[in-house]
Amino acid sequence: MSKKQFRTESKKLLDMMINSIYTHKEIFLRELISNASDAIDKLYFRSLTDTSVTLSRGDYEIRLIPDRTARTLTVRDNGCGMTKEELESDLGTIARSGSFDFKKDGDKPEDVDIIGQFGVGFYSAFMVSERIVVVSRAYGSDEAYKWESSGTDGYTVEPADMEGFGTSVTLFLRPDTEDEKYSEFLEEYKLRALVKKYSDYIRFPIRMEVTKSRRKEGSPDDKPEYEDYTADETLNRMIPIWKKDKSEVKDEEYSAFYREKFHDFEDPLKVIRQRTEGVSDYTALMFIPASAPYNYYTRDYEKGLMLFSSGVLIMDKCAELLPDHYSFVKGLVDSSDLSLNISREMLQHDRQLKLIARSLENKIHDELIRMQETERDKYVKFFRAFGTQLKYGVYADYGMNKEKLKDLLLFDSTFGEEPSTLKEYVSRMKEGQDAIYYAVGESRSQAKMLPQTEAVVSKGCEVLLLTEDVDEFALMMMHEYDGKEFKNVASDELDLGSDEEKERVNKENEAKKDLLSFMKDAIGEGVAKVSFTSALTDHPACIASEGAVSATMEKTFEKMPGGENPVHAEKVLSINIDHPIAAKLSELYEEDKEKLTLYSKLLYASARLASGLGTEDPAALGELITKLMV
Ligand code: ADP
Repeated sequence: MSKKQFRTESKKLLDMMINSIYTHKEIFLRELISNASDAIDKLYFRSLTDTSVTLSRGDYEIRLIPDRTARTLTVRDNGCGMTKEELESDLGTIARSGSFDFKKDGDKPEDVDIIGQFGVGFYSAFMVSERIVVVSRAYGSDEAYKWESSGTDGYTVEPADMEGFGTSVTLFLRPDTEDEKYSEFLEEYKLRALVKKYSDYIRFPIRMEVTKSRRKEGSPDDKPEYEDYTADETLNRMIPIWKKDKSEVKDEEYSAFYREKFHDFEDPLKVIRQRTEGVSDYTALMFIPASAPYNYYTRDYEKGLMLFSSGVLIMDKCAELLPDHYSFVKGLVDSSDLSLNISREMLQHDRQLKLIARSLENKIHDELIRMQETERDKYVKFFRAFGTQLKYGVYADYGMNKEKLKDLLLFDSTFGEEPSTLKEYVSRMKEGQDAIYYAVGESRSQAKMLPQTEAVVSKGCEVLLLTEDVDEFALMMMHEYDGKEFKNVASDELDLGSDEEKERVNKENEAKKDLLSFMKDAIGEGVAKVSFTSALTDHPACIASEGAVSATMEKTFEKMPGGENPVHAEKVLSINIDHPIAAKLSELYEEDKEKLTLYSKLLYASARLASGLGTEDPAALGELITKLMV
């Protein structure tokens, strides 16, 4: 029989398993039992909706069969089984690819980390076995197949005989060594302890034939005799973790459950539990991951919670349960109110489900606010991972959710190193300040160093420092917070000066009208206007914008794919009225128009740089500078 080869990444994983020095090899049992339970879940679910499957709940079991003579441990289930094709495709590749970024640390990732934290499914059985035989018969089929492999050199699949349906996985345990006693996995006490430790909550019975002792019938009281007999024992309590009392479950257990079910290698940042009775009856167990999944901000990411109906899994990822702005939440909902044969389409309109979704959303919101108020460091970590999503949430759907989300936002500011909420900003506003100021830059320090930021700060006001594309859009969508309008410090309309000051600027603009219009023509299309300002302190000039679209927003639009940018910022070159450059320009207007043309262009280019907009044409700028030097 010819051997088939594993795919490259599966092979790497296998290799890692076989050579593993991981000390908790025992987790292989948890993985096999979890697969068996999933397979039963699938068939059980079918039995509830498909009349051709005539099985009832009590018919299902997972059986452990240790055989000391043969040195094998078998895990047998009567779940959905696998067809020949499924045996090849499901056991020949890693289902969880993507979780394993082999390229990250060269070709040899730390196996201890990966195995311990992910669990690694079926392949983990190779940590304890020298050979594995899987016999499976899909429900409804009369053909069974045998899959067999001794590791990296490939696997075979051939027809086999099997009573009933389901899957049996037989591990031929490795010989014991000084450090590793693989034969322990044949001992009753060990198997019992492992099930208790890792698989207690599995909802189907995990049974094993055990040897017990009893008093021989008729043996005298003063000289009792005992005999051994065998009996079936159910090793697990079958109470799902989310049904247990909060006080009964340790944090580690929630974490372990989360990592296993949702394939994360880190503990969750937060566990959220909700149990309600009344209008709708459900239990929810939700988790906020500690970091964003590698594909979180891509189209590949699918949001959703697992959906159970009275303990039966009916959907793996029910998207309707989570709004987009909380798409990072993982977890499950178990409700007794949902019909089992509800279809995906029906779910979208299900009233009960909508009620649950709304109450989950409120719960998540409240928990986040609580975290923000009582566990600030944790909240900042959370916000670093998922804050962008919340800001999109403010902006999305025409701002429909902005009210709910506004207090969850954090922004950097000139106040200190730690990010602030809007509420905190407002509480620090000085008397007479009626707007919330913000500056936009590529980085926090760049936004902080903008000429206009410095000017506003020097007037005693705090400035929010925005660094993400979505930030400005989110603020525009909110328009105001607590009655205070958001104002971009780079806006031409920003006025912090006194009436006299404004008067002085207006007069100067009027008096030097010709100079300013000459300069505008010299610069060309880059600006809509050139004018004086009293808002700057040390800088000679800056770029401000007029109207709703700021220069940074224009830049964001330009980065977006899809052709011509539909919006344009009206840019203004603002010249510091008190800077010596102002006098110099007036002088040149009288004496040397050619030089004024060059100066205007250079002033514009340097104002762009100071305002974080970059150079439009570096070559031309270089040329300009050389020209002025000679
Ligand atoms: P995962 O459980 O994360 O999907 P595994 O490597 O453990 O990854 O298993 C791969 C796939 O093989 C499963 O998704 C399932 O389709 C199939 N499989 C494994 N064990 C069984 C089983 N006992 N019965 C039916 N299918 C199984």
